[in-house]
Amino acid sequence: MYDLHPTNGQFAMPTLPFAADALGVISAKTIEFHYGKHLKAYVDNLNKLITGSELAGKPLSEVVSHAEGGLFNNAGQVLNHSMYFDQFGTENHDCCGEIADMIIRDFGSFDTFKREFEQKGTSLFGSGWVWLSKDSDGKLTITQEPNAWNPIRRGLQPLLTFDVWEHAYYLDYQNRRADYIAALWSIVDWKAVNARL
Ligand code: MN
Repeated sequence: MYDLHPTNGQFAMPTLPFAADALGVISAKTIEFHYGKHLKAYVDNLNKLITGSELAGKPLSEVVSHAEGGLFNNAGQVLNHSMYFDQFGTENHDCCGEIADMIIRDFGSFDTFKREFEQKGTSLFGSGWVWLSKDSDGKLTITQEPNAWNPIRRGLQPLLTFDVWEHAYYLDYQNRRADYIAALWSIVDWKAVNARL
């Protein structure tokens, strides 16, 4: 399972597995703001709020599972964005490996899965995230999570996510959230997704 661990109680900015101008369907300008400003602010706020809290020193997944209020919001956004950026790249764009078999098993086909994921991402009202996760029986499920929520709050294991907050797409796609969502499939690195199983 994907997780981040603090050093001396503080979380580092995750590194990007791609160059800022390498993705094409997400511009370098969006990466500059989304990663460099939005995520940086969440990491800084998390590190301020975790200091002296009873969750200090715990892995990020545990903080997200148990925190409330501002600590939860910032921890959730750090985990969500770290997983979002970590799953994109310039290679492995064909769905493959164990996750591909699970998608066929639980959705019937990759296209059916894609349609449901896109529909849930497009119809989520306001700010939030659409997720593919694995439940405690090992079955895949797609959920809409508002604001900073992450599926681990419901006992699910998160595998893949598209950020549908406006800041994720407004510079490149303005109000066309569906176009942004459809474009993201071309940059998913399925090897990174498999590593989260
Ligand atoms: Mn975001």
